[in-house]
Amino acid sequence: RLHNKLQDLKGKIRVFVRIRPLSPREEAGGCRHVLLKDGREGSLAMLPDEKRRLGAKAWDFDGVFGGAEGQAEVFLEVSGLVVSAVDGHNVCLFAYGQTGSGKTHTMFGDEGSEAGISPRAAGELFKVLEKSKEGGSMASWNLSVTMLELYNDHIYDLIKGKGEKVSLKFGGKSVEMIGAESEEVFSEAALLAVLRRGSERRRTSSTAMNADSSRSHMVLQITISSLSVTGRETTGKVTIVDLAGSERLSKMGKVADEQLRETRSINKSLSSLGDVIAALKKKSAHIPYRNHPLTALLSDSLGGSSKTLLFVCCSPADYNRSESVGSLDFAFRCR
Ligand code: ADP
Ligand code: MG
Repeated sequence: RLHNKLQDLKGKIRVFVRIRPLSPREEAGGCRHVLLKDGREGSLAMLPDEKRRLGAKAWDFDGVFGGAEGQAEVFLEVSGLVVSAVDGHNVCLFAYGQTGSGKTHTMFGDEGSEAGISPRAAGELFKVLEKSKEGGSMASWNLSVTMLELYNDHIYDLIKGKGEKVSLKFGGKSVEMIGAESEEVFSEAALLAVLRRGSERRRTSSTAMNADSSRSHMVLQITISSLSVTGRETTGKVTIVDLAGSERLSKMGKVADEQLRETRSINKSLSSLGDVIAALKKKSAHIPYRNHPLTALLSDSLGGSSKTLLFVCCSPADYNRSESVGSLDFAFRCR
């Protein structure tokens, strides 16, 4: 099971690939499926393109989900990691990939059987908290949530949702969020309502800014504190990040100034994320968290004793080949 690989996750970044199925339109259009799970667990192969003389490629990751694995299967592999926040761990899950590759589907999803990681995590966290309390080991607990959107280097609060900007204040070692609402919730239903409202606000706020929601990053943080019957306090946090689309400008053809600015901002934030991950891998003395608001926000969830899992989402289609290679190469460097 991939599950076992998540045990020793501290200080390392694990990478899972998720390949979405071809869409009905792509199927109908005769799109070729070029990204395949390759027998061995975690291996991924890209078929060659003889016409364009592009050779086959292959990568090895910690796990690969193909089109056959649904939302429940994906969550099964990460639920242990998510609930370890109840034991005081900081856990961070990212989705990286081009627009339309399945990041939001993976991290948030839709209702019911199509629910993604966040709503399933909400259910699982409350189940564990309630069980611990009934079991008599936990005296009390407290769960709070923040939900932020990063667009063009600005941070917006999705809980207050009136377009309030959030600013960051740097202390000696810590980063403080000024103006970010943290909402306390007491039930799975209440947490789901916050998630739904925040996701909806991300969509509407980006429409108001004349942008696509896939051009912004979304950072959800669920903080869990508990008090044991012996008086020991434990705090852990689950951070879920739905990154902006990683596609390059060239794909978008002719673009307006605003789009150019947007794309530059996204490229800068994603490369800052890559820099932080590279520095963590090298165990550098200085990790450049403060170079960008995105990495500053994540400074206590990335590296150190945190457990980090990166989902690279990919389209299997031939026409997305170069974007998929870009995402997979980025992810491969993160391992
Ligand atoms: P992104 O957030 O990366 O831009 P989305 O999550 O919005 O992409 O996915 C694009 C479309 O593909 C959506 O209609 C979504 O429902 C669908 N989709 C993505 N991943 C899957 C999957 N694994 N299985 C079925 N449909 C998927
Ligand atoms: Mg999306």
